[in-house]
Amino acid sequence: MARSVKERLDAVAKRRAMDEDGVLTLDGLRTVILPAIVLTSLEDASEWLLGSDLGPALYAAGRDVGRDIGGRWKPREGSSIPETFAALLREIEARGFGRIEVVADAAPGTAIVRLHASPYCDRSEGAREGACQFPAGFLAGAFAALVHHEIEAAETRCRGMGEAYCEFHLVPVSGEAGVRASAPAQSSAASPAL
Ligand SMILES: [Zn+2]
Repeated sequence: MARSVKERLDAVAKRRAMDEDGVLTLDGLRTVILPAIVLTSLEDASEWLLGSDLGPALYAAGRDVGRDIGGRWKPREGSSIPETFAALLREIEARGFGRIEVVADAAPGTAIVRLHASPYCDRSEGAREGACQFPAGFLAGAFAALVHHEIEAAETRCRGMGEAYCEFHLVPVSGEAGVRASAPAQSSAASPAL
């Protein structure tokens, strides 16, 4: 039977470790438990500095993190890429990012993902464009690491713009750019699955 989010959260908690210096790790990755307001405060401060360049900068940062996490992910034997991607996102959900839904009928090689409570747009009511560029980049990077082809993600709906949820469309980057970036993401064989 599928585990509930609460059961997955409990499983995540069991995989934490802290050393004598107080450095917390989860599956070997240094981890800090932060109030979600830290994310929106960093967004606000960065927007003040970068203005309209903030979106692409956050997207690029999210994509790097997604590639790293996706590259560490060990699919279960016999699992398809969509199943593996959904399992990865269930782990992300268990970290408190709100309910994540993978829309079932996306075309092969693409994905549609909904974040029902993205923390990145908690303070962006009335925004004119999607506020969730970091998660958009993360989804693109993580999916790309699984399919070994460059992926781009667009946030087509955002809760910050009054929608019920944030929705992301993930599609392959066509042509040269996609092929050039299709090398498998770097991963450490010693890393446990997240
Ligand atoms: Zn959003």
